[in-house]
Amino acid sequence: MNSLRPASSHLDGLAAYDPKFMPAQAYLSANENPNDISISLWKTIVKRMEALPFNRYPDPLANAFREVIAEANELDRSEILIGNGGDELLFNLALAWGGPDRSFLNLPPTFSVYAHNAALTGTRVIDIPRKADFSIDEEAVLSRVGKGDIDFMIITSPNNPTGNLADASFIVELLESSDTLIIVDEAYGEFSSVSMRDHLPDHKNLVLLRTLSKAYCLAGVRIGYIMAHEEVINELIKVRQPYSVDAVSQVIGMTVYEQRASFESLIADIIAERDALYEKLNEIPAVSAYPSAANYILFKVDEADEVWHKLYEQGVLVRNFSSTPGLSDCLRVSVGSNEENNLFIAALTHILEDKESKA
Ligand code: PMP
Repeated sequence: MNSLRPASSHLDGLAAYDPKFMPAQAYLSANENPNDISISLWKTIVKRMEALPFNRYPDPLANAFREVIAEANELDRSEILIGNGGDELLFNLALAWGGPDRSFLNLPPTFSVYAHNAALTGTRVIDIPRKADFSIDEEAVLSRVGKGDIDFMIITSPNNPTGNLADASFIVELLESSDTLIIVDEAYGEFSSVSMRDHLPDHKNLVLLRTLSKAYCLAGVRIGYIMAHEEVINELIKVRQPYSVDAVSQVIGMTVYEQRASFESLIADIIAERDALYEKLNEIPAVSAYPSAANYILFKVDEADEVWHKLYEQGVLVRNFSSTPGLSDCLRVSVGSNEENNLFIAALTHILEDKESKA
């Protein structure tokens, strides 16, 4: 056998999502939490795992965990869905609300997974690019959604990679003006302390997406969740893989979520590091950093591609967005530990001084 029948034609020309993982001394590229969970929390998890039968399938919907999230948010269990990371839930949303003859409104530059999921599900993507300061073109969005043919859209707040928040009153106006499913991706919400949570009971078309990968240090475990009207959750249950959230992840996620108050000082530390990093970046003459409500900062620097390579040579990996439309000469740095942030600032300062002296 020396031939292979081609895969489905909708994959032609589609590149796989690439998280650009490369080993580095300071890994400041994936917006992870620089801290692991505490030893005492880890011990609690291990104890709970002793009671776990590995020969049994997990509870498909992680109902005990759903209850805990529901109670914390004054919602019903039927209004919560847990997924294998926020990524799985985003794909489920595209499967359930997208598809051939369906339309997704995208607000680039934003998280590239949204457009990728649309391509995978054969969904038409309508782009309304953000303004020069990365704020949403609210008038254009309201008028486009007002035409009535947008099936779903995602508002990322804080937006990745630009770091800015969406305006709550604009989201409410949008929710009230149409039946489009409006997903507010709050993956980084804990670093901003604003949320659309209080608006959930008033709007059937509002979906909130959260993750334990960022503020709660669990990127390696894969737990995300959705809060939405029961009707939305029921549609998502139809498309999800029944056992996507394994038993081990359910135990880890639920224990961490129950103890979420113990993460508050860690989150406050990351916010303080972010604000200090923003100041330091803007003190470098050749750099202009954008304000951020998340755990990363987007910054502009001439010849960003070359700067990115030189940073990597010095052991610092950041994300290069310089070839993304709307983000020319932009790099994104995740807020790391104090040590990593200092290493990054020292390396960047050195690279730019060196360039200046050779100019
Ligand atoms: N939404 C946004 C905006 C993100 O940046 C990410 C992670 N990069 C996710 C959702 C999904 O995160 P996870 O799958 O780790 O929960």
